[in-house]
Amino acid sequence: MFQKILIANRGEIALRVLRACKELGIQTVVVHSTADSDAMHVRLADESVCIGPPPSRESYLNIHQIVAACEITGADAVHPGYGFLSENAKFADILAAHNITFIGPSGDHIRIMGDKIEAKRTAKRLGIPVVPGSDGAISDEKEAKRVAAEIGYPVIIKASAGGGGRGMKVARTEADLEVALQTAKSEAGAAFGDDAVYIEKYLEKPRHIELQVFGDGAGRGVHFGERDCSLQRRHQKVWEEANSPALNAEERARIGGICAKAIADLGYSGAGTIEFLYENGEFYFIEMNTRLQVEHPVTEAITGIDLVHEQIRVASGGGLSVRQEDIKFNGHAIECRINAEDPRTFTPSPGTITHFHTPGGLGIRVDSGVYSGYRIPPYYDSLIGKLIVHGRNRVECMMRLRRALDEFVVDGIKTTLPLFRDLVGNPDIANGDYDIHWLEKYLAKED
Ligand code: ADP
Repeated sequence: MFQKILIANRGEIALRVLRACKELGIQTVVVHSTADSDAMHVRLADESVCIGPPPSRESYLNIHQIVAACEITGADAVHPGYGFLSENAKFADILAAHNITFIGPSGDHIRIMGDKIEAKRTAKRLGIPVVPGSDGAISDEKEAKRVAAEIGYPVIIKASAGGGGRGMKVARTEADLEVALQTAKSEAGAAFGDDAVYIEKYLEKPRHIELQVFGDGAGRGVHFGERDCSLQRRHQKVWEEANSPALNAEERARIGGICAKAIADLGYSGAGTIEFLYENGEFYFIEMNTRLQVEHPVTEAITGIDLVHEQIRVASGGGLSVRQEDIKFNGHAIECRINAEDPRTFTPSPGTITHFHTPGGLGIRVDSGVYSGYRIPPYYDSLIGKLIVHGRNRVECMMRLRRALDEFVVDGIKTTLPLFRDLVGNPDIANGDYDIHWLEKYLAKED
């Protein structure tokens, strides 16, 4: 087991990882920018190192500073959290070259999954169902037209280097295709420095369902069931649940089995998420994330397993603590992402939190690094906390969520709490009857 872990992140996830390290009796080092000296995880860590000024590229994305902090403090492993360097293959390689363990998969696996064309090809080879589409990058309009005619309109053009929903364009007819192809290419080139694009069938009303998987790096793979993350705004997840209201146990076991086997065959190590669109009873792979996800606590709630403990165990060579048959799904969990944003316009609302009171009681978990008097710096993501509610079934979970939202107080700034108070009373949400477009349509109606 590791002696000392350096946490290369900030906010709620830094605190989340710190808690897991403390429980395992591992010493903790956190790195932080000058804007985060007052953060809760900095206060609670055994050691902290200031690695630079507020802009992320000079601090949280500064590989040299982070490696230097490891050397100075004698950390033997780094947990990258999510975002920042968590899917940076070069970072994983550099740590390995310094004999520091990256708590995550190998640089090569990160690289494969970071290239969407390569990821899709790999998924297909491993027996994972994918969206019908081009075999690889599309070279010209002629090829685009041929592929689109083959799979049928509407189609979506996507950037191979894509992320955050950028570089994606839908074409409903052949007449739209030329413009869609050119715009997707130029957006991709500008955003990612790589204008490779591919085509796939555009699904009209899918749900976003993702499988939590783990590999031990030695040929064993397990799945921890799915999360339904269909409630999105601009491709950003807002509300996540486990299990999905749309799946039954049989479907879960079937797709879970496919994913676990794929992870085993790949020789993958650590936590991963295989993301699918789900429509008319079929799963279509869209991408794999090679890290812990923001929404992992809903999986923890229904399985009772600490996924960060598992990540640390696997990375230290201790293997997984569970076999597939030990993983049971108990009840229902929902996570609401609480952002420092105007709940109508979603514009960021940094500032000082004058009063912060979190709900409590059975089945309630709040992951947040903020406190009364905390000043939210304007430089980073607006997520300030996550409310995770667990119940014996979805109905109980929703009743408890409504109560917890009523108790939650965040004064001094605007937050997305009022949005969740509206959603929890909505009949479609109560019935679990929504797809990936539901939230945007709902928000457009409310304006
Ligand atoms: P990114 O990495 O940019 O987030 P993804 O491939 O994960 O890109 O897709 C992001 C979102 O775009 C999906 O959650 C879905 O809403 C939409 N999307 C992607 N592919 C398709 C498709 N084939 N049909 C319909 N919607 C899609």
